[in-house]
Amino acid sequence: MSDAHVIVVGGGIAGIACADELAQAGLKVTLIEKEQEIGGWAADYCCKATDQCNRCFVCVSDKEREGVRATSGITLVTGAQVSGIEKNDSDYAVKISRAAGAEEFHGDAVILATGFTPFDARKKGEYGYGRYADVLTGLDLERMLRERGNAFKPSNGMPPKSVAFIQCVGSRDDSIGHLYCSKACCAYALRMARVIRHQNPESEIFFFYMDIQPAGRLFDETLKACEEDPNFHFIRAIPSKIYQYTGKPGLMMRVLNTETGDLEEQFFDMVVLSIGMEPREENAVVWESAGLRPSDEGFLDPGSAEEGIFLAGAVSGPKDIERSIMDARQTVLRTLQYLEDKS
Ligand SMILES: Cc1cc2nc3c(=O)[nH]c(=O)nc-3n(C[C@H](O)[C@H](O)[C@H](O)COP(=O)(O)OP(=O)(O)OC[C@H]3O[C@@H](n4cnc5c(N)ncnc54)[C@H](O)[C@@H]3O)c2cc1C
Ligand code: SF4
Ligand code: SF4
Repeated sequence: MSDAHVIVVGGGIAGIACADELAQAGLKVTLIEKEQEIGGWAADYCCKATDQCNRCFVCVSDKEREGVRATSGITLVTGAQVSGIEKNDSDYAVKISRAAGAEEFHGDAVILATGFTPFDARKKGEYGYGRYADVLTGLDLERMLRERGNAFKPSNGMPPKSVAFIQCVGSRDDSIGHLYCSKACCAYALRMARVIRHQNPESEIFFFYMDIQPAGRLFDETLKACEEDPNFHFIRAIPSKIYQYTGKPGLMMRVLNTETGDLEEQFFDMVVLSIGMEPREENAVVWESAGLRPSDEGFLDPGSAEEGIFLAGAVSGPKDIERSIMDARQTVLRTLQYLEDKS
């Protein structure tokens, strides 16, 4: 079995973790990534430490990414989009297209770790994303904190004093047909809100939510610290609209007060939309070629995978980094078992 060759499709944290585990087990691995760099979405995320580490797992992902480059036994193929998978008599043919043209790789098993797409906040037009400079998504804030180190209002570069987070944008929402929870957005939003409070002790956070979904280690401690912070306000409501008066600073938010039934209006300096995860529709052709079917939520149903094809990470449903790594490890165990039975 040690001369077996496994093809891992997708160089996000799940694919990276699979490649690493397989190489450690002595197998030959080809890791195929469509972008020029491996790392997936997590490569854009920030450290969410305040005066202590808040266990967001982003640096774990960064370290795994660096580690996999240096591991012998792993062939990295980047800038290569997988366009189809075909089962032959003795192996699997993975078709790729890249600038240099089409190519085929052959492996004894295939792991699909092609991940998710962040929800496009423009689909919730009522929040003005793309129209108002100071309405950001959680992904924008991740990138801002990673690249610049501090939160600022894109409209004028100043630190925001009042920041509203709107949870469940693109998840748990009947109007867009996504009833599932994206699992990672409560945790990333609370952790980044704490970073803003830590950087600017005068700032105030207004956290609009319906439910809080725990994720990851130290989550309870993070939530408790937010609840005990007098400048952190939890409001159980989903705002209905954001608008801005021409030439005036600040974003006006309309919110239904669930206790009084009244529509209220509040001003904020900056709004962060905590976007969730969607399936990567552009891979539908790949899934079909491998005989895979979507689950009710639209992600891939692991039960539909043919013998020798395995799934890892968020491709089968929303997961945070820690859960994606755990899922990758279980996938590798199943892959090794399959190769053992085959040999
Ligand atoms: C805004 C936001 C912030 C988040 N912050 C955190 C956080 O702080 N902590 C945390 O634990 N989790 C966080 N998460 C969750 C985290 O993003 C996921 O857990 C993680 O990215 C899942 O990794 P993955 O490898 O399954 O998928 P991805 O990161 O999507 O990686 C999939 C890879 O596959 C590649 N690919 C796709 N299709 C093909 C193809 N056809 N051919 C070749 N390559 C392909 C992609 O280019 C990509 O590199 C956050 C999520 C969001 C939306
Ligand atoms: S786990 Fe997150 S908060 Fe902790 S040091 Fe790493 S990146 Fe920073
Ligand atoms: S993790 Fe939180 S914000 Fe994200 S969908 Fe679930 S409940 Fe909503």
